[in-house]
Amino acid sequence: MSLQDITARIAKAEAKSKRPSGSVKLIAVSKVQPNERVQAVLEQGHRCFGENRVQEAAGKWPAFKERFEGIDLHLIGPLQTNKARQAMELCNAIHSVDRPKLAQTLARLAQEMGTCPDLFIQVNTGEEEQKAGILPAEADSFFAECTALDLPVRGLMCIPPLDEEPTLHFALLAKIAARNGLEGLSMGMSGDFEQAIALGATHVRVGSAIFGERVKPQE
Ligand SMILES: *Cc1c(COP(=O)(O)O)cnc(C)c1O
Repeated sequence: MSLQDITARIAKAEAKSKRPSGSVKLIAVSKVQPNERVQAVLEQGHRCFGENRVQEAAGKWPAFKERFEGIDLHLIGPLQTNKARQAMELCNAIHSVDRPKLAQTLARLAQEMGTCPDLFIQVNTGEEEQKAGILPAEADSFFAECTALDLPVRGLMCIPPLDEEPTLHFALLAKIAARNGLEGLSMGMSGDFEQAIALGATHVRVGSAIFGERVKPQE
């Protein structure tokens, strides 16, 4: 696979579900990938990337930002409150807003900095104990809490359980978003982004299908 293959498959999936061309944003997930591979994708003109650790992003992206214009960086992994400021300075979007304490910290920092990245609320659609995210039953009230804090919530994000049919989770996320009037849906990875697009994904997070298998284990 390559960047070109993936963008072609996204375009096809958009057309198939009668969605406007360009309505799905491809976040190229560059976590743990060697810099040469990331640079190759930048040189092909792609600008939207995802990282799941603030520290790794902070080590990698300032140098790329000096060399390439218009980089759009998305944090897609868990965020500790003590790294929130760094994440807000570095990223254009944060997809992992998952608890009141983090929302309160982001709101305080946004006031102080006068700006805030686009935010997505992560929903633990599989209700998995080890997984981050707000439970589906608490999503509406958490969104209301974020809105009361003036946070720019653009949508919802989920990571379906590994061993379950992802479309059930995509459909659930879409349903929660619709009833809250949220347009953004960050869902779909290398193995299932076409299904996610069929169910309304606006942001797909694709790593290994673009860059190749990750060299080092993640967790
Ligand atoms: C790593 C990661 C991805 C990309 O996974 P691939 O299977 O390599 O496409 C997507 N979303 C999140 C939250 C991730 O951590």
